[in-house]
Amino acid sequence: MSTPRDLERARAGLVHRHAELRADLGGLLLEMARRDTFNLALLETKARAAVAVETEIAALDATLAAPAASVPAAVAMPSAPASCGRCHGEVPANANFCPFCGAPRGNA
Ligand SMILES: [Zn+2]
Repeated sequence: MSTPRDLERARAGLVHRHAELRADLGGLLLEMARRDTFNLALLETKARAAVAVETEIAALDATLAAPAASVPAAVAMPSAPASCGRCHGEVPANANFCPFCGAPRGNA
């Protein structure tokens, strides 16, 4: 899974790409005006690429703004054997009483 840092890096790349595409668009249009020949299909292709980058940036922003995926609570973690508080014997994880002295696990 991507970390927020990866996403920020990807976003920075997209913003850079978008700036390049905008500069290309302006340069192309200017060059076409100089030649008095307008290739609208080429402009459209460049403009659509820039819009696609905007869409990707928006999707990244939505991901970055979303709350972090909830981490499952540690309920499934089997508890380790405990040491009895009275006799210091080892109380198994699933035992309610110390097998050596009978002390309740709460006191173990
Ligand atoms: Zn005990």
